[in-house]
Amino acid sequence: MKFRSTRSQETVTPSYALLHGLARDGGLYVPEEFPEQVLSYTDLKEKSYQEIADAVLAYFFTNFTPKVRQKMIDAAYNDQTFRDDRIVPLHSIDTDLSVAELYHGRTLAFKDLALSLFPYLLTAAKIQEEEKRDILILTATSGDTGKAALEGFKDVNGTNIMVFYPSDGVSPMQKQQMQKQEGKNVRVSAIHGNFDDAQSFLKRVFTSEEVNTYAHDHGVLFSSANSINIGRLFPQIAYYVSTWVRLVDNCVIAPDESFDVVVPTGNFGNILAGWFAKKMGAHIGRLICASNRNKVLADFFETGVYDMNRDFYTTDSPSMDILLSSNFERFLFYVAKGDCQRVAQWEKDLQETGKMAVNADELAWLQEDFCGGWIDDDETEAVINHVYNDFGYLLDPHTAVAYGVYLNRHKQGMDQGRHTVIMSTAHPYKFPPVICKALALPSSDDPFAMLQSISSLTGIALPEPLAALQQKPVRFADSIEKEDMKQAVLSFIDDISKKQ
Ligand SMILES: *Cc1c(COP(=O)(O)O)cnc(C)c1O
Repeated sequence: MKFRSTRSQETVTPSYALLHGLARDGGLYVPEEFPEQVLSYTDLKEKSYQEIADAVLAYFFTNFTPKVRQKMIDAAYNDQTFRDDRIVPLHSIDTDLSVAELYHGRTLAFKDLALSLFPYLLTAAKIQEEEKRDILILTATSGDTGKAALEGFKDVNGTNIMVFYPSDGVSPMQKQQMQKQEGKNVRVSAIHGNFDDAQSFLKRVFTSEEVNTYAHDHGVLFSSANSINIGRLFPQIAYYVSTWVRLVDNCVIAPDESFDVVVPTGNFGNILAGWFAKKMGAHIGRLICASNRNKVLADFFETGVYDMNRDFYTTDSPSMDILLSSNFERFLFYVAKGDCQRVAQWEKDLQETGKMAVNADELAWLQEDFCGGWIDDDETEAVINHVYNDFGYLLDPHTAVAYGVYLNRHKQGMDQGRHTVIMSTAHPYKFPPVICKALALPSSDDPFAMLQSISSLTGIALPEPLAALQQKPVRFADSIEKEDMKQAVLSFIDDISKKQ
C-alpha cells in the first residue's frame, strides 16, 4: 500500500508517511487505493480485539511483516496498557442504545487507543527509513493528547517527547497528570498563553531552518504525535470494526443489520476513522457528528458551508473546542472524489477567508452518511445528571455532548428502531469540576477532594492511574512565557545529544 497526498499525486511508503506526518505539499496522507468493502463478519466473528486490529491494519501497514505487526499490536493492547481485557467494552443502556467505552487505557482517554500503538509504528518506520537520529516529538495539547502521548512514548528507545500546555487551559486533573509524568525521555511545560499560542509556536519550530539545523547537528529529528499522522488515524478504525463485530456476536443486531454511531468530535479524527470502517465493510449506517457550542462541523453537515468566522467558546468539553479540524481535509478529499485541485482550492478558501463550501450534489452525497448536532454546557450538565439518575451510568462531558445530540434527535422522532452506539471518549473522573456541578456536589480547589465526593455518591472507585497519581511527586511545575518556548526546546536538544 502506498499513501498519497490530498493535494497532489505524490506517493510515499507507509514508513515515510509515519515518520514525516505531513506531506511535503502541506496535504495529508491518504491511501492511494482505499480498501473498500474488504471486511466481512464471517471472517471476524468472535475474534479478539487484537486480531481485529491486525485484520484492519494489514491493509494499510503493508510495509511490516505479519509477525512484526502482530508483535506491535500485542505490545500496544494488553493487560498492562488497558484495564479491560476486551480493550473497548460495550455498555448496554437499553435495547436501542449502547456506549462503546474507549477510555480504559493508561490515561483514561480514547487517544490511548492510537497512542499505545503509534510509538511502535514510528520506531519501526524509523528503522525502515534508516533514520539514525533520535526522534523528538513536540506536542501542544489542550489536555488529553499530551498525556496520552507522554505515556505512549515514555522510555521508548530512540525517542523523546516534549509537551506544552496552556497553564489555564486544561482541567485540574489533566494538569496533575502532566506535571507528575514519569519517564527519562520526557519534558513537560506549561506556558502563559492559550492552546493556539502553543500550536502556532510549534508550527514555527517545525519549519524554522535555524532550529532544524540545530537539531540535525545534535542528532535529533523533529516529529509530531498529532492526529493527522496515519499512525494515529488508522489504528482507530479497529474499534469501530470491533464494536460492529461485538454487536453481532451478542445478537444485538443481525448480521445483515447496521447501526448508527454518535461521535463527540473535535479534530475529526475519531469520526473519520468510523467512516473508514464503514468504507471497509463494517455495517455502520449514519455517523452523527456531535459538537459543543463551537459547532462549525454540526453547521457544515447541515448547510455544506464550513465557516470559521465566529466566536470561539471555552466549554465543559475542552477537547472539542476547535474551529479548524485538522483531519477535515482528508474527508474533503473523498467529497471531491480524489480531485486534489479542488481540495487545494478549498484549503486556500479556508486560509484566505476562513470559509469554504461544497456544492449541492456534494452536500447530498455526504449527507447520506453524515449528519450533525450540538448542545451547550447547560444541556451537557443536564444530560450527565439525567443519565446518572435514570441509568446509574456516569458520562464524561464530551460523551455527554454525544448523548445529548442523540436524545434531541430521538425527541424529534429520528433514528427510531435502529441501534445506536455512543462513542465514549473519556473517563468521567478526568473532569471533576463539571461532574460535581452536574451532580450538584460542592466544588473544591483540590480535584482529588472532588473525586472523593463523586465516588462517595456514585460508588464508582477511583481508577488506578488517578489513585496512584495523588501520591506521586510533581516533576514539572514550570510555567514559562511563550517567548521562552524556543529556548526550552533547544536546551532539551542539548540534553538529548549528551545522552547519545
Ligand atoms: C480528542 C478528544 C475528542 C475529539 O476527538 P477528535 O478525534 O479530535 O474528533 C473528544 N473527546 C475527548 C475526551 C478527546 O480527548
